[in-house]
Amino acid sequence: MRGLSEKIAAIAPSATIEISNAAKRMAQEGIDIISLSIGEPDFDTPEHIKEACIDALRRGETHYAPSTGIPALTGAIAEKITRENGFSARQGEVIVTCGAKDAIYEAMEAVLNPGDEVIVLDPSWVSYEPCARLSGARARHHALSPATFQVDDTLLEAVGTRTKMIVVNSPSNPSGAVLNGDSIRLIADICRDHDLFALSDEIYEKLVYGKEHVSLASLPGMAERTITVNGFSKAYAMTGWRVGYAVAPRPIVRQMEKVQQHTISHPTTFAMFGALAALRGSQDCVESMRREFERRRDYFVPALRDLGYATAPADGAFYAYVMVEGDDMAIARSWLREAHVAVTPGTAFGTPGWLRLSYATSMESLREAVGRIARI
Ligand code: PMP
Repeated sequence: MRGLSEKIAAIAPSATIEISNAAKRMAQEGIDIISLSIGEPDFDTPEHIKEACIDALRRGETHYAPSTGIPALTGAIAEKITRENGFSARQGEVIVTCGAKDAIYEAMEAVLNPGDEVIVLDPSWVSYEPCARLSGARARHHALSPATFQVDDTLLEAVGTRTKMIVVNSPSNPSGAVLNGDSIRLIADICRDHDLFALSDEIYEKLVYGKEHVSLASLPGMAERTITVNGFSKAYAMTGWRVGYAVAPRPIVRQMEKVQQHTISHPTTFAMFGALAALRGSQDCVESMRREFERRRDYFVPALRDLGYATAPADGAFYAYVMVEGDDMAIARSWLREAHVAVTPGTAFGTPGWLRLSYATSMESLREAVGRIARI
């Protein structure tokens, strides 16, 4: 066979795969595995959202849609952003994508050229660097302070002549940190001073506990250089629906639209009607899921600290990020082997020496996991 794509071959498989495959194998063998490696809400999609999708199917909404998404949804997203996120968005500045992940991929394709650099703040979610590489760009990793997980002046040292974009993710997967006002202002200052684009991944915006989520695009001069990425997966427990979106200046949306037209066309038409119902309907379901995550966090994070583990702030999302001594990959393997608890090693997020423990699972499983970890 002729050699395959060097670009794809150069992308490393996720460091999470080995552990999750081993966990799946053990579960198939009948071993009682507690999985804390889950990256999605354990709740079912609220009923009114499912009904809206079923109604759409019954009405015959089974055809192609405009490539940026059904107009009712792009309109509802523009209204949501203007109402909630502190900057105004017009319908033409919105594109609906197959999940937030697709929005990140398309945004990088739309903005970056080969040789450009993208600053990624570590610990960082697993797909930012691969998406940058798919567009031909390079990721430059900048470590956040492991004490606060906030941004400080050292970020400036990561900006070089080829830097074109910075990726921001607050609340963060994996650390659970929520960037404070000073961090957001510093990022905005650097973007303006160095004429950088920002990709602000706000997929966990609704899952904050006692902190305020600030959209980067709401800062002066930032809406014109920021691609705000969000979606329905986490806030509405809709991971399998594959509906997300980006809000960005019109020239960027037009470029993203071209990527979409020649690849996926658009997200599934009837799924977009479900997403529309999510935005238009009561937001009580979002708040009740948020409260349940907070209740679990309030149990789980202190319990881990009582066992002697230092943890990241855990102010948002649904992850406890736990510091360990030694090789995190080896420790994750041994937790799986000895305690039958599956976790994600920090190496997957560019920060060896940490483990990510998801609390998107029942309180009963969390209590059992804490007991097992205590016995390691
Ligand atoms: N960004 C972050 C930080 C995530 O954790 C995830 C999901 N794990 C995504 C984006 C992708 O979300 P979606 O399901 O909407 O593609």
